[in-house]
Amino acid sequence: MRKKIIAGNWKMHLNASQASLLLHRLHERIKIHRDIEVVLAPSSLVLQPLSLQIDRRKFRLAAQNAYHKDQGAYTGEVSFTMLQDLVHYAIIGHSERRIHFNEDLETVRDKVSASVRNGITPILCVGEKENERKAGETKIVIHDQLVTAVSNLTAQEVSNMVIAYEPVWAISTFGGELAKPDVVAKELVYIRKQIADLYGEKVSKQVRVLYGGSVDDQIVSGYLDLPDCNGVLVGGASLNYHKFSGIVDKAYTLNKKDDS
Ligand code: PEP
Repeated sequence: MRKKIIAGNWKMHLNASQASLLLHRLHERIKIHRDIEVVLAPSSLVLQPLSLQIDRRKFRLAAQNAYHKDQGAYTGEVSFTMLQDLVHYAIIGHSERRIHFNEDLETVRDKVSASVRNGITPILCVGEKENERKAGETKIVIHDQLVTAVSNLTAQEVSNMVIAYEPVWAISTFGGELAKPDVVAKELVYIRKQIADLYGEKVSKQVRVLYGGSVDDQIVSGYLDLPDCNGVLVGGASLNYHKFSGIVDKAYTLNKKDDS
């Protein structure tokens, strides 16, 4: 069984001392679980200090974004190359970046390629907006986002990556309507089917697929129980150490149940 990933996206919250305090609290609450990977995505400003503080047996760090060129005259940007020694993962194509920063399909593809080129595992976010779901366009949106994003990758690179299905309408900052697990289940199957069509069944089984959208400790089990779900990407609730460590506890309990 692959490890479940519980990833927290802290978005543009927490300065260095606040981030350090939250990490400290999480460290006290979260035990080392062999079957669970806990990933924290703080602001890029605090990746460096947190990388010194972090217990690598318990946590992995992720970037929330980076620029697709490795270096050069790109004032204000941080490249994947610069993040190489700091992070294991990078969140790419998050809906807040697609919507607020106009990241299009090709930009996301270039970032995915840059991430892989620099040895950082992409957590690629895909998902439809509310109007797209209502118009029956969910599958075509996911298809276009997914197929474009992975178009420069080999089968081996795709099997190592992580895909997060995050319907925009379910993300807390865009409405936060709870997606029913049976609705999510269908899209997770669809995502794996797309990968199977492009890269074959083996890769489709290996690629890790997460769910994200207003997940907290009360509702996480409904998603973690889905057969195609390898974990969750958590925004708002990851800023609360009770809720986030509660999510990790739920994942641990479910894993133990599966093992018995
Ligand atoms: C996210 O930021 O990826 C996310 C899913 O946010 P939230 O859990 O707050 O909806």
